[in-house]
Amino acid sequence: MRIAVLKESTTGESRVALTPETAKKFATLGATIAIEAGAGINAAISDEAYREAGVEVGKAAATVKDADIILGVQAPDVAALKGAKPGAWVVATFDPFRETARVEAYAKAGLEALSMEFMPRITRAQSMDVLSSQSNLAGYKAVLAAANEYGRAFPMMMTAAGTVQAARAFVMGVGVAGLQAIATAKRLGAQVSATDVRSATREQIQSLGAKPIFVENVAGIEGEGSGGYATEMSEEYQKAQAELVSGHLAKQDIVITTALIPGRPAPRLISDAQIATMKPGSVIFDLAVAQGGNVEGSVPDQVVEKHGVKIIGFSNTASHLAADSSALFARNLYNFLSAFWDKEVGKPVLDEEIGNAVRLTQGGKVVNERLAAQ
Ligand code: NAD
Repeated sequence: MRIAVLKESTTGESRVALTPETAKKFATLGATIAIEAGAGINAAISDEAYREAGVEVGKAAATVKDADIILGVQAPDVAALKGAKPGAWVVATFDPFRETARVEAYAKAGLEALSMEFMPRITRAQSMDVLSSQSNLAGYKAVLAAANEYGRAFPMMMTAAGTVQAARAFVMGVGVAGLQAIATAKRLGAQVSATDVRSATREQIQSLGAKPIFVENVAGIEGEGSGGYATEMSEEYQKAQAELVSGHLAKQDIVITTALIPGRPAPRLISDAQIATMKPGSVIFDLAVAQGGNVEGSVPDQVVEKHGVKIIGFSNTASHLAADSSALFARNLYNFLSAFWDKEVGKPVLDEEIGNAVRLTQGGKVVNERLAAQ
């Protein structure tokens, strides 16, 4: 069983899908591991550190040659995988709803694409879930980036020269990233409030010591929603939400938006007219900027100033914390493959529940139900 890892080729991608720690663990399962030279550099992992962990470090073509499994953060271009075994598995994120051409190319090349974004949200798969591990770090980084752009302090400070008021922070969308954003803003000393469409988040917001802001007169999503995911809300709900949020936004200094809907563009939560009611010097961080944005006017990797308010957002937030995000991503992949490792055949054998959920292509065809339903 040969596991190969290439250097990520997407601009701005600093993460790596294997760490020396996970390499050693794969080796104890009996796998041989190879990585392209320099693959870990941007995540602060040297080639030497991989070599010490028993990994073969070499050029891309030699790394991929005869590989049974290729690991990636973002799925490599099919052309880079020539030389891998026929039917080799590629375990990575594929952005399958948007990158349909890439999925087709994988099918055509006879590769088996396993998309980590499609990991089902079930208890036993929690340790394999890259969306959670990466969103958690992204939520943290969003608050730090917003704090950095903010020309004031977060905590209340009573000094000899007078009092500095605490910042008011509002988190919109309380999934994994939103919960971490609440916790981080609290730790920095802000007064924090938060909102979501799923009623189950109300208690979670309160348990972190933040104030829930909820639409009361129109039904949202009861409980967790299917698989923990939100859906598009009715027009009536959107209107009620916009009214509620408008009054609240005008009083905020920091806003972090994290709302996502799988397979759909991110919902628009803040309009330009609402930004105009905010105080100059306020900062909005749009964590959904790469998925179409929750905030009107947000542009990936740029500081946009509208009505004196700074709007920011990264195209790849987790990549800004590459060492930690790689460590967690790599563990997610190890947890996934090792859970299914069949010692007798010396390779992983997936079950139906998880295998069918994550598998995009097999035997030359696109085989995933969620893609077929699109
Ligand atoms: P996500 O990234 O899909 O979305 C972020 C948040 O935005 C969600 O809370 C969603 O409800 C919210 N949202 C969507 N539309 C909105 C709107 N119009 N206004 C306000 N908020 C809106 O979500 P996520 O972070 O991946 O997690 C969602 C849930 O799934 C969480 O409860 C999480 O604990 C759960 N989860 C479970 C597992 C597991 O059991 N294996 C793994 C991951 C997540």
